[in-house]
Amino acid sequence: MKITIQSLNKQYKNGFSALKNINLEINEGLFGLLGPNGAGKTTFMRILVTLMKPSSGIVQVDDFDLMRHRRQIRSMLGYLPQDFSVFSKLSTWEFLDYTAALAGLTNGRERKRAVDEMLEKVGLYDARDRQANKLSGGMKRRLGIAQALIGHPKIVVVDEPTTGLDPEERIRFRNLLSDMTHREIIIILSTHIVSDISSTCNTMALLNKGELIYNDAPEKLIAEARGHVFQINALDSDLDTIKEKYPVIATIPSADGWEVQVVADGLHDFHGTEIEPNLEHAYVYRMEYGLDN
Ligand code: ADP
Repeated sequence: MKITIQSLNKQYKNGFSALKNINLEINEGLFGLLGPNGAGKTTFMRILVTLMKPSSGIVQVDDFDLMRHRRQIRSMLGYLPQDFSVFSKLSTWEFLDYTAALAGLTNGRERKRAVDEMLEKVGLYDARDRQANKLSGGMKRRLGIAQALIGHPKIVVVDEPTTGLDPEERIRFRNLLSDMTHREIIIILSTHIVSDISSTCNTMALLNKGELIYNDAPEKLIAEARGHVFQINALDSDLDTIKEKYPVIATIPSADGWEVQVVADGLHDFHGTEIEPNLEHAYVYRMEYGLDN
């Protein structure tokens, strides 16, 4: 199965172009959509899950067209929106049972088994009788992924799932997504947090100001930044100048001042040593020096 996107544009009523000529193919596995706030990620996700219509362009899921086969495509989708919350007073178990029924699991006995299994998988079985809207932030997010996955969707869309989670819950959530990935489904994860992508995704896209500026493996983006990341041993008095000249990734205190990590096409005024880039360096390098894909 694959999603094919051609010349996708979205212009809001006020004339603002949130997506500009996006061409993209998304295959089975975990696909990461990375970009700063305002890049157009939510707009893109909402179009994919049929909550919003594009201004122009084509989105196809295999042979189904998003505009002509909305119902069929909807039946393949699971969605965890950015602002997922549970308003009702249902227990965790009742809530998931309810969403499972909506997702088409009509046989009571099968549904009960599916709900129990899913609660086990996301680590909420012991919380099954607790009121869903009173769960902690991390637990709610896990209930969110459970409700997105319960109807055996072929495409799962997850919008900024780790925002606001503490590190432990963030790691737990990422592991949960990786665990789901061996099934033959497409999982699309949107995030502005680089480390969400590096540890989980096999393919990624980078969105900036509505434009697709990268689409390939995270490792390739990292390779591109090789030779462009430097560590400068700096004094207090150098810091401002360095920040003016180069995008700074990290400023780490050292014995005699600071170790400053920067991305640059080359260092001119400061002496630095080249260091091995990680995805965060590579992301900043691409955003700042914007090569053609
Ligand atoms: P992201 O999810 O990457 O933060 P969004 O898709 O939410 O980005 O927003 C992309 C851009 O579109 C932002 O600049 C935002 O202000 C703008 N935008 C979002 N919704 C609307 C709207 N209904 N009308 C006009 N502009 C909008």
